[in-house]
Amino acid sequence: MSGSFPHRFLADIPGQSAMKEMLFRAIENGRLPSTMLFRGGECLGKFAAALELVRWMKCPDPVNCAGTCHSCRLIANLDHPDIEVVVPLTTEVEDKPNKIAEVMSSVAKNPFAPFRLDKNMRIGIDAIRELNQKIALSAATEGGRWAIVRDADLMTLDAANAFLKTLEEPPENSFIILTSSRPDYLLPTILSRSQAIQFLRLSRARIAEFARLKGASEQEAETLARRADGNLAPILNAEDEQYLKAKALAEDFWAALFDRSESAVFDLVPLIAKNAPTTKAVFEATISFLRDTLLFQTGNPSLIINIDKKERIAGIAAKSNFPKRIARTINLFDESVKDLRFFPQYDLFVIATAISAMKIIRGETI
Ligand SMILES: [Zn+2]
Repeated sequence: MSGSFPHRFLADIPGQSAMKEMLFRAIENGRLPSTMLFRGGECLGKFAAALELVRWMKCPDPVNCAGTCHSCRLIANLDHPDIEVVVPLTTEVEDKPNKIAEVMSSVAKNPFAPFRLDKNMRIGIDAIRELNQKIALSAATEGGRWAIVRDADLMTLDAANAFLKTLEEPPENSFIILTSSRPDYLLPTILSRSQAIQFLRLSRARIAEFARLKGASEQEAETLARRADGNLAPILNAEDEQYLKAKALAEDFWAALFDRSESAVFDLVPLIAKNAPTTKAVFEATISFLRDTLLFQTGNPSLIINIDKKERIAGIAAKSNFPKRIARTINLFDESVKDLRFFPQYDLFVIATAISAMKIIRGETI
């Protein structure tokens, strides 16, 4: 059972019962901090929780409403006049209202989905200036004025400084929620003016439960939860079109590495190196195929993740039965994913990684 708060309170957010209880008590006592920082690892539902909290505060009957009233629907569409939502944007999108509308509609569609943080994504000063103006207006409906700043650590220095004035003297009846997986990148002055609300890693049971809610079968939910590293990433990725494309590309890449066909590998490079998020997603999916190959070779085929590709994995595992080499290739890709952000030229980076991987698989020293 959850803690001592109504069952509809932040009901869509998995786990985090201590946080929910603390927030609910603060609301009951009229002591909700005017600026909160939802912090914790990626893919824990921090942004979704921020929206849920605002929905609760603005709903005329939150205990009984299932998110269907006018207020709740406006909030779900990010269309409520009392709520300002700011998300990081690439510099190409920043000044194009129709592109921004596209981004916001995808955020509204799935507030859990992780942002694919491109190198040039940021929260610029114009967005914060607009927030400053809007939060100072009086609320159109009960429950105050709200602003949510997603991935607030991506504020530019100018934006952060412009934001400080609002944080120093928050307008009456206004509330701000910042979310961040990298709070160390926030200005100390922002950290000191906001109340930290910590999100914790999720248990396997919670993750499996979330997967089932998202339509996974019992077995799929268990597999996804096993693969998860304390957060919802595998489930959120599994329903993401971009991720599915990356997975298909990774499957071709992984198979080509074992076919020892350099030309097939090099044909894939431009597709994999399209941009940083694609490279990262393809490399991560490649790692999952490599892990599955290794699981076959070490006699644990029931633990594989890419269940739908079982036969192909079995074939490749039998053809190139060198578990140590595969373990080294996994290390190579793990390191590459970490180093990715340091390489502005992804294509060269992808080629270098692919060549090293082929050498390791062939048993050559690199
Ligand atoms: Zn409602």
